[in-house]
Amino acid sequence: MAEFTMELSEEQREVRDWLHGFAADVIRPAAAEWDEREETPWPVIQEAAKVGIYSLDFYAQQYFDPTGLGIPMAMEELFWGDAGIALSIVGTGLAAVGVLANGTEEQIGTWIPQMYGDANDVKVAAFCSSEPDAGSDVASLRTRAVYDEAKDEWVINGTKTWATNGGIAGVHVVVASVDPELGSKGHASFIVPPGTPGCSQGQKFKKHGIRASHTAEVVLDDVRVPGSCLLGGKEKLDERLARAREKAKQGGERVKNAAMATFEASRPAVGAMAVGTARAAYEVALDYAKTRQQFGRPIIDNQGVAFQLADMRTSIDAARLLVWRASWMAVNGRPFTAAEGSMSKLFASETAKKVTAQAVQILGGNGYTREYPVERMHRDAAIYTIFEGTSEIQRLVIARTLSGMPIR
Ligand SMILES: Cc1cc2nc3c(=O)[nH]c(=O)nc-3n(C[C@H](O)[C@H](O)[C@H](O)COP(=O)(O)OP(=O)(O)OC[C@H]3O[C@@H](n4cnc5c(N)ncnc54)[C@H](O)[C@@H]3O)c2cc1C
Repeated sequence: MAEFTMELSEEQREVRDWLHGFAADVIRPAAAEWDEREETPWPVIQEAAKVGIYSLDFYAQQYFDPTGLGIPMAMEELFWGDAGIALSIVGTGLAAVGVLANGTEEQIGTWIPQMYGDANDVKVAAFCSSEPDAGSDVASLRTRAVYDEAKDEWVINGTKTWATNGGIAGVHVVVASVDPELGSKGHASFIVPPGTPGCSQGQKFKKHGIRASHTAEVVLDDVRVPGSCLLGGKEKLDERLARAREKAKQGGERVKNAAMATFEASRPAVGAMAVGTARAAYEVALDYAKTRQQFGRPIIDNQGVAFQLADMRTSIDAARLLVWRASWMAVNGRPFTAAEGSMSKLFASETAKKVTAQAVQILGGNGYTREYPVERMHRDAAIYTIFEGTSEIQRLVIARTLSGMPIR
């Protein structure tokens, strides 16, 4: 286990500075254009692939950083550049993590490389769990997967919604119910390979922020996938279902809580994205406050403005520390006994919303226009308190973990 230190290693600083350079030179200058176009920024993803940022190898290296800081540092820098473009770059990672977490070695080796493609032929992947009637309440999803034993195929039917890269992805990872009685314990994940008949894009959403990231419905109409596309394999699924049926007899609520706990580990990464956006807005506001003159002096000369900046920076640093703590705990196998993963996501996402709003205020009329980036950052920041579990759901997880009570 790494010794505790607040100092980043030389290697970590190099990676951070390299990512910052890419975010400053490639992502930030493209941000306004792709926000207006509301389209996936393929040329930027290609550029990221060329330099090695859009690749499985890069994320694996960061993931295995023994201090746990590799992923949060990468997320903070890329999202500092621009949240919409950065989500287009890291969105495939959501699907890849779905396969890494549940797939066999053979499935990992077959599908993850296909998710990314290569620098000359870049692909994206989508992770499809949410449904129109199953957002926070993931246990109630309706997409069904039924096994056709004669053909060794699974038949999937349902509609997924809000899928990042949904429909434009090559590989889709789809969560479906194989036993509705078991709630989330009756779910299984499937690979839907590129070009599978019956898998299509539904409506593409026009969003408030992160508009360079594609978000759409995915319609699954009698989609047939080979038995080998069930992540983890049939034998493991049957064993897991048998255990879950046994546990369900002892009380449904316990089953639900265990499922919620599995999301804990990915939440600090979303917290780090929020820290990136918050820091970006804070920096613009600080510069502006030092140069904008009113009443014959820079506006930062007023405590009303300077104190806001002091609070903004304090919250951002506190958020980063919570994210780093949770990431360190996750990588060192420390259990989140106080839901530290959820704490980090909750605080960082609320901080991003608040700080970006303060930045708009400090820029005054300019902050309200698209001439300055804080307007976009403020719209982008609103996503962090919604996806990967809303702030209310994070509070629910924290409160349940602290109290051991089934708080509703
Ligand atoms: C841009 C974007 C990208 C996304 N990407 C993906 C993706 O790639 N894959 C994917 O599967 N999903 C994705 N999502 C879906 C996202 O995870 C859900 O939107 C989120 O989980 C919230 O679900 P919901 O929208 O149905 O809100 P609801 O669950 O309907 O919640 C509505 C409100 O009620 C509150 N609420 C609900 N239940 C409770 C409760 N028990 N206690 C207190 N308050 C409660 C919520 O906090 C929220 O404020 C994405 C969403 C967006 C907007």
